[in-house]
Amino acid sequence: MMITTKLGIQDKLPLTCSRTGTCCHGKSVLLNPWELVCLAKEKKMTPREFRDLFCEFGGIRLRFDGKAGWKGQQACSQYAGDSGCSVHAGRPLSCRLYPLGRQIQSSEVHYMYEGNEFPCLEGCPEVAGLPYLTVREYLGGQKTDKFEKAQDEYLELMQNLADIAFALFLETGLAESGDTETLPMWRKMGSDPPEVLADRIGHEWVDCLLLPPIFDDLEDPVSFARKHNEILQSKAQEEFGALRTNQELHEASVLMMGVALHLARGLGANPKDLAEHWIDIAKNHGGLE
Ligand code: SF4
Ligand code: SF4
Repeated sequence: MMITTKLGIQDKLPLTCSRTGTCCHGKSVLLNPWELVCLAKEKKMTPREFRDLFCEFGGIRLRFDGKAGWKGQQACSQYAGDSGCSVHAGRPLSCRLYPLGRQIQSSEVHYMYEGNEFPCLEGCPEVAGLPYLTVREYLGGQKTDKFEKAQDEYLELMQNLADIAFALFLETGLAESGDTETLPMWRKMGSDPPEVLADRIGHEWVDCLLLPPIFDDLEDPVSFARKHNEILQSKAQEEFGALRTNQELHEASVLMMGVALHLARGLGANPKDLAEHWIDIAKNHGGLE
């Protein structure tokens, strides 16, 4: 289990960045669909162009294929050497928060860092001599507010997608028929590597998940994510509204669970744990495996 150090909002830490770019090397920067739009805007590209050039797995992760730097690790595709991050104003939440992380437990937000030792000290020991900031001051300076709202709204959207998978399984007669194939597939997808899951979902759903056709409200992540939710719900209704056979219902439920798990990974959740959690809920409602 990963050790984390939990923080209070008034805790004071060496949070003034020394701007050496150390943490722009060898990391995994995950994205939600609104963050993809923000990055593309900074690069004066369409989200599709940005995704195709700089992202992996359909757009849920930034490529780290730049020049090798700190500890021989490759730089983020957006790292521009001495001038730093080329998308600074549109950088995603995980970059704004680093070295901190954010978790929601029982509807409460917590901030923390990985390990017992403050992460920046390994690559940038000079931060110990720079001004200390409270967690609150740091978050304010990094303008995390909108990005945290986007993250929370997309967590809800993820649950809505999983709910479609539940409805297709539990409310159509599929589970009642004694089906034992759907839940094992949910489990399998929880352990699929991201490229396998993206392939399984197929490019049409991946594009609908990562490149929604929304051209206004780009400054308002809550409105953006809600419009995105409507687009995904309409697509599911169109495709699954008239399904009849158990095989069709099984395939649709597996597909929607796959879409939910792919988004979950982009939000930093652990798809394996989440799949197990959702399987338990389905079993408590009569699902078999
Ligand atoms: S490791 Fe910390 S101090 Fe170093 S560049 Fe990253 S955020 Fe700044
Ligand atoms: S997006 Fe910018 S801040 Fe984030 S890892 Fe890449 S270069 Fe660094």
